[in-house]
Amino acid sequence: MNELFPNFRDPLFGIIIIAISIFAISFLTYTFGLYREKKTRKEYRKLLKRFEIGKLKDDDFVHLYTTYNLPFDSILLLASSFLHKGNYTKAISVYLTLLEVVKDNVKKEELLELLGTSYFKGGFLQRSKDIYLKILKFSPRNKNALNYLLLIYEKLKEYDNAMDIIEVLDELDVDIKQDKVYIQTLILLEDPIVSFEKKSDLLLKLLDENRFIQRLVAQFLIKYNKPILWQNINKLDIANNLDLFWYLDFNDIDFDVVMKYDLLVQIYCAKGYIKEDIKSDIFELMVLISTKHSTYEVDADLNFEFICSKCKKTHPIFETRCPHCHSILTLKVNPKLAKQTLNISSFL
Ligand SMILES: [Zn+2]
Repeated sequence: MNELFPNFRDPLFGIIIIAISIFAISFLTYTFGLYREKKTRKEYRKLLKRFEIGKLKDDDFVHLYTTYNLPFDSILLLASSFLHKGNYTKAISVYLTLLEVVKDNVKKEELLELLGTSYFKGGFLQRSKDIYLKILKFSPRNKNALNYLLLIYEKLKEYDNAMDIIEVLDELDVDIKQDKVYIQTLILLEDPIVSFEKKSDLLLKLLDENRFIQRLVAQFLIKYNKPILWQNINKLDIANNLDLFWYLDFNDIDFDVVMKYDLLVQIYCAKGYIKEDIKSDIFELMVLISTKHSTYEVDADLNFEFICSKCKKTHPIFETRCPHCHSILTLKVNPKLAKQTLNISSFL
């Protein structure tokens, strides 16, 4: 019976076992390789599909970077599309996921800057502040981080911190003079101790040296000190405060002063407060003045939009910093005719 089976001490038996083992291992490796390749292809096709329809998951960006070796700049470009489309939550999520796998310090700084911007644009000011402060810890001369911190401190009304940032930017030879005057003006405007009279004086002195703050001064005087407004009307840009004058209450208008300025006469003729035979170079005012002389009863009004002289973007309300390019006091008022309904009952 022993002759029917090879003796396990027989060298031939050992060779057979080794051969079978090699075959089994090769077969398993090959099968596993095939399975893995198939799985990878399937995942790749899925990723490609998500890429085509623009619905990449957060992990996909990591795979594109680590598995498919897509250049880091291309990954950032892809992820930044969320930032530009205003999908800040998605942008934040992608940047946070990428931060977990990126080791290089320069790339990390780049990602942190984009994360800070996403938080800022998404309205998460405190988180944005924390991110930029973190960047400054290892890169204290990062101008982008400093500029964003200045905007954040201004929005949070942390003016002392804003002035510290201005000093640092000044040392880095950034032209920051306008920002300095602007923040000084905001500090004065927000000061709860200084009286309205004293504030008016100080603001007018600031205005003499810095014409660009005239809108801030006009807004303050219209709200808190109208007599001083009318006394100093020559220092203000009436055309660029058209909306402020348009919405003034009849009883707050000093018509003796108004009559000395053609544009003010045009505004209040268009409004219907005074009647003068006057023309206007501003089309919208001219239309309204004409309607006041017409036998038609026209219910027309003015609306205003604001166009940034720097980036040319239009905004529905006035803001001291352009929400798009963050330039200071570059929004220019643009009147628009609104609600023009014709009443023809007088003809019937
Ligand atoms: Zn702008």
